[in-house]
Amino acid sequence: MKIKSATFVKSSTKADQCPGGDLPEYAFIGRSNVGKSSLINMLTERKHLAKTSGRPGKTQLINHFLINDTWYLVDLPGYGYARASKKDKAAFQGLIRHYFANRRQLLCAFVLLDLRHEPQSVDLDFMAWLNGAGIPFCMVFTKADKLKQGAQERQAGQYLEQMREAGWVETPPHFITSSAHGVGKEEVLTYIEGVNQAFRESQKNNP
Ligand code: GDP
Repeated sequence: MKIKSATFVKSSTKADQCPGGDLPEYAFIGRSNVGKSSLINMLTERKHLAKTSGRPGKTQLINHFLINDTWYLVDLPGYGYARASKKDKAAFQGLIRHYFANRRQLLCAFVLLDLRHEPQSVDLDFMAWLNGAGIPFCMVFTKADKLKQGAQERQAGQYLEQMREAGWVETPPHFITSSAHGVGKEEVLTYIEGVNQAFRESQKNNP
């Protein structure tokens, strides 16, 4: 997919403040510092569209960006910030659950995982929750440039293996990316384009 335009639309503190209309949307989420802003900037070919985090865990905002006037890229707040207070963690959970429960135009979530780290329970728990809630999602491994190619595959495989051991019959699609080296951009954008096309077809058939 060629990115012709990418513009910030609005920040919302609740799902019911998010933009109206029926445009399909894709949400990006992961632990603070996972590389979410860098990935969004890589995908959209804009250096500063998403602000790289200065104060992890502080911004509890849902940010909508309109891409090619046809779909929304949604930057959700980071989770699992160890030093966040109990109150902040509860507020985050409320915000996220409300968002996923209410955005019927959300077609897919992208869960970002730092490829250097062993599978973390906060991520596994979050993906299990998404699965239970029936939200389609993909896994996006970030910072691949920090590992050699063989280690990249091994590390991603370890994640998938652990999920299968935990009872996942089918693991979600996954992508290996590096914003530093521009890796994985076409794959993620092509996936989004495919889902958008399927969505348009389904709308034509069920107007
Ligand atoms: P966010 O908090 O999830 O939005 O993460 P940021 O995009 O702000 O990135 C957090 C840190 O990871 C920053 O220091 C980035 O420079 C670094 N980072 C992000 N993506 C990559 C990557 O692909 N490779 C490397 N080596 N570092 C990255």
